[in-house]
Amino acid sequence: MSGSITSRELAAIPIERLHGVGPKKREALEQLGIENVLDLVTTYPRRWVDRSREARIADLVPGEEALVIATVRSARARTTRNRRSMLNVTVGDDSGRLDLVFFNQAWRSRQLTEGLQVALFGTAGTYRGGLQMANPIVDLIGDRTGRIVPIYPQSEKARVSTWEIAAWVEESLRRCAERGIADPVPAAVRERHRLVDRERALHDIHLPESIRDKEIARHRLAFDELLRVQLVLVARKRRMERDARGIAHADGGELAQRFRASLPYPLTGAQERVIAEIGEDLAAPHPMHRLLQGDVGAGKTVVAVAAMLRAVEGGHQAALMAPTEVLAEQHAVGISRLLDGVVVPDPANLFGDRPLRVELLTNRVSGAERTSVLAGLADGTVDLAIGTHALIQEKVDFASLGVVVVDEQHRFGVEQRAALRDRTASGPTPDTLVMTATPIPRTAAMTVYGDLDVSVLDELPPGRTPIATRWANGPLLEAEAWADVRDQVAAGRQAYVVCPLIDESDKLEAASALETHERLAHDELSGMRLGLLHGRLPSAEKEATMDSFRSGELDVLVATTVIEVGVDVANATVMVILDADRFGIAQLHQLRGRVGRGEHASMCWLVTRDIEDGSPRVEALVASTDGFELAEVDLDLRGGGTLMSTSQKGRSDLKLASLRRDRSLVEDARRAAFELVDADDELAGHPLLADELDLVFSDRDEEFLARG
Ligand code: ADP
Ligand code: MG
Repeated sequence: MSGSITSRELAAIPIERLHGVGPKKREALEQLGIENVLDLVTTYPRRWVDRSREARIADLVPGEEALVIATVRSARARTTRNRRSMLNVTVGDDSGRLDLVFFNQAWRSRQLTEGLQVALFGTAGTYRGGLQMANPIVDLIGDRTGRIVPIYPQSEKARVSTWEIAAWVEESLRRCAERGIADPVPAAVRERHRLVDRERALHDIHLPESIRDKEIARHRLAFDELLRVQLVLVARKRRMERDARGIAHADGGELAQRFRASLPYPLTGAQERVIAEIGEDLAAPHPMHRLLQGDVGAGKTVVAVAAMLRAVEGGHQAALMAPTEVLAEQHAVGISRLLDGVVVPDPANLFGDRPLRVELLTNRVSGAERTSVLAGLADGTVDLAIGTHALIQEKVDFASLGVVVVDEQHRFGVEQRAALRDRTASGPTPDTLVMTATPIPRTAAMTVYGDLDVSVLDELPPGRTPIATRWANGPLLEAEAWADVRDQVAAGRQAYVVCPLIDESDKLEAASALETHERLAHDELSGMRLGLLHGRLPSAEKEATMDSFRSGELDVLVATTVIEVGVDVANATVMVILDADRFGIAQLHQLRGRVGRGEHASMCWLVTRDIEDGSPRVEALVASTDGFELAEVDLDLRGGGTLMSTSQKGRSDLKLASLRRDRSLVEDARRAAFELVDADDELAGHPLLADELDLVFSDRDEEFLARG
C-alpha cells in the first residue's frame, strides 16, 4: 500500500497490533467498542484537563471553582445515620492537604486507591477549620505530563485506564505519521468551511497543544460526522426524486377556493405559508415527500384537507392514515363536516357535478359497508379515504391515488408509508405529506428526517385559552391538585388523570391504572363519576368510555397514555399527571395538549413524589407551553447524540457532533452534501469519501436513517 492511510486501512488493523494489547486488554477494549485502530482513534476524549489552570492546594480559595491535581493519601468509607454512603478521602500535593467527601458514590472506594494521581474539579469550602471539596469531578490522569491531558471514557468493568488508551492512541498516530492520514473530504469543501485537515484534526483532538486547537479539531471531526449522515440522506432524497414518477397536480382552482371560503375562520399566516409550500410540491412532476410539523392544535387538519382537495380536483383520490381507530373516526367526522356541501366535477352526471364522497375505512367497517367502500376506492367514486393501517391491506385498491397524508408519523414506520404510496400498482407515485405533532428542532429534523422536506406550522390559531402548569412535588401539593379537580368538576368541567408510566409492560400499567382508579374513587375523588381507560381494555369498552366522557356522563377519566393522541373534549379543563418525572418532555407536552381546548382556562398538574434535586423535564413543562421551545430543551437535556440503530458505539453515530451545539454545522454539512450529490450523485469523483460512507454505514444504519 502507498499513499496516505485511509479509514478502511485503519479499520483493517486489529487492536492487538498495538504495544501491550494482549487477549485480556483486547477483550476489555472490545467492551468499549474498540476492535481496530479506526475505532481507537475515533474514540475521543470525553474531557480535557488543562493543567495550565491547575491550582496548588495551598492556593485554593474557599467558594471558588478550581482544578487541583493531587495524590490520594487515604480513603475511608462509611454509612451515615440516614443510610447514605459516605466516602472521606484525603489527597495532597507538595503544598498541602485537602479533604474530599463523596456522598452516594460507594463505588469510588475501589477507584480512589492510595498513591493514585487524580485531577479534581470542584469548589472547596471550609469544614471544621480545614478545606473540603464535596462531590468533586474526578479524573484519573496517571502520570501524564502534557499541558493538556485527554480523559477517555473508561468503564469500571472494562478495566482499561484512560492513560492506557491515551498511550495506544499516541502510538497509532505516531505510526501513521510517515504515510500520513488520508482526507476524504474534498479540498474545496474544506476550504469553504475553513476546516483543518483530517490528520491534523485527529492529532489535535487527542493531543492538543491548547484548548483552542482541540476546539478547531472537534469542529472538523464533527463536520465529518454530520456530512456523512447528510450525504446518505441527501443521496436518498435525490434518488427518490429521480426514480419515481409523480403527478403534477393542477393549480388550486375552484374546489380549493370554495373550501377556503367555507371555513368559519381565516387561515393563520403559517397555514397560508405551508399550504403554498405544499402547493409547489404538488405542482411539480416528482412526488412530494414532506413532513409537516405543527404543535397540537396548530391546525394541521385544514392544511391536509387543502392538499387532498388538490388531488380530488384533478380527478385523483386522496387518503389520510391515522394511527388509531379512534383518531381515524374523529378525522372522518371532522373532515366530512368541513367538506359538507362540497361538490366535485363529474361529466357523467346530469348536473355536471356530484357531492364529494368521503369514506372511513378501519377494521371496524365491515359487511356491506366495507364492500361498498372498497368498490368505491377501486372505481374512483370515493374521493377521500380516511382510515387506519386498514387502508394499506392487500385487498384495498385505489383507482388513482394522488395524495397521501399520514398523521402522527411516529406511530408508523417507513414501510407503511411506502405501502400506502404503492397502493396504485402501476400508476405514478402519490405525493406524501407526513404530519407530526411532536415538534422537532430544525437541525434535528434535518438529520432525522433528512430525506424529507420540512414545513412548520409555528403559529397557533388565535383565541386559545392558555394552560397553566404547576408542579406538585410531594403529598401537600398533590392534595391541592385533587382539590382543584373537585372544584372544576363542581363547576361543571371535566378532568383527566394520567396514571404512572410503566415501561414495557401493558399489563402492569393496566393494573396500576386500575389501582389508581380504585384509590381515587374511594378517596380523593369519591362521589364523582370516574371512568377508566387503558390499553388492555377491549376496543368496544374503550369506545364506550370515551363516548361517556365526551358526552359529559363521566366527570373524570383515569387513563394511561392511551389518551395521548387525538382525544378532544373541550369541557375538560384540568389534567393531573402522576409520577410526571417518568415521562419524556414530548410526551408530557402531548398529554397536556388534551386540555385547553375550549373556552375555559385550563390547568395541568404534574405530580411527583418528593423529588429532592429538581426535575429538569417537569420544570421545562412548567416554564413553557411552546412545543418547539420544549423540543429544544429536550434536545439539550438528552444531548442529541445518538441517532442510529446502533448504540453509542456505532461507527455511524454522532460522537462529537451535537445537534444542539452544532446547529450551524448541521446546516453547513447539509449544504455541502447537496453540492456534492448534485454535482456527482455517485460521488465517483470522490472515491475516498464514497468508500468511507460504505465503511461507516452498515445496511442497518442506512435503513434506520430512512425510517426517520
Ligand atoms: P392539529 O391537528 O394541528 O392538532 P387541528 O387541525 O385539529 O389541529 O385544529 C385544532 C382546532 O383548531 C380545530 O378545532 C380547528 O377547527 C381549529 N382551527 C384550525 N385552523 C384554525 C384557524 N386558522 N383559526 C381558528 N381555528 C382554527
Ligand atoms: Mg391532528
